[in-house]
Amino acid sequence: MHFGNIGGRAAIVRGDDAYDLGLASSGTLPSDPMEALAVWSAVTAWAASAEPVEAGLIAGATTWGPPVPRPRQSIGIAVNYRTHAEETDNSALDVPQAFTKFPSCITGPTSDVVIPSGDIDWEVEIVVVIGREGTDISSDDAWDHVAGITCGQDISNRTLQRIGLRQMSLAKSHRTFGSTGPTIVTVDELRDRDDIRLSCTVNGFERQSGSSRDMIFSIPELISYLSTILTLYPGDLIFTGTPSGVGARLTPPQYLHAGDVIITWVEGVGEMVNNCVADSIGA
Ligand code: ZN
Repeated sequence: MHFGNIGGRAAIVRGDDAYDLGLASSGTLPSDPMEALAVWSAVTAWAASAEPVEAGLIAGATTWGPPVPRPRQSIGIAVNYRTHAEETDNSALDVPQAFTKFPSCITGPTSDVVIPSGDIDWEVEIVVVIGREGTDISSDDAWDHVAGITCGQDISNRTLQRIGLRQMSLAKSHRTFGSTGPTIVTVDELRDRDDIRLSCTVNGFERQSGSSRDMIFSIPELISYLSTILTLYPGDLIFTGTPSGVGARLTPPQYLHAGDVIITWVEGVGEMVNNCVADSIGA
């Protein structure tokens, strides 16, 4: 199932069509995306068997918003691909390195990325969306707590990231730095949940290309580790790290500027197209 947010309302894809979840289920399921994620097993069970009510069909072109518009928690994982660990001279780490990608930065699959001053970089990521609350989740049980995956951009201000003791969380959380979407895809639809390909182009040049096989900590290991410390809630986002090819590691380094176009692709999900625009306040 593909699930997302159209105009602030929960929507699912059926064939070539998108349906408003609340209307298509005759009001038996929530119309708010966050409320739908909170009853995820009911949503997936309905989508697997029920015939959507025609009144729920969304006519015309659909513009998807962020599939999780108001995540309670949004977590990023630094240096989680072996290729990226090599390019950043970070040897493999013993435990996942987490930071906060503050929820106020989360935007949608066609949202503009506002470029502040500093060295602003791209990072394609697989974003895991939690579908069931849990603490101390074992790796074996971890996929059962996943609603699905979506595309993410962990846009990063390298200048801020390098200051002092590393302002990792703020450097990743400028307004508009968290594009997500276009939809959440349930794990059963993936070709291989342990080998999810992902890529990123900037102005048509492929900058990143990899697979989740290259992760230092797998998706189940990340969920298990985080849940030893945090309670994970439906709708929580985990940005699971980026493969090699970030702009800071090019020779010479290259960064994002107003006018650039970022295309972010995750296998089984699709792609996001985000335009970079000037910061009109800071300019
Ligand atoms: Zn990242």
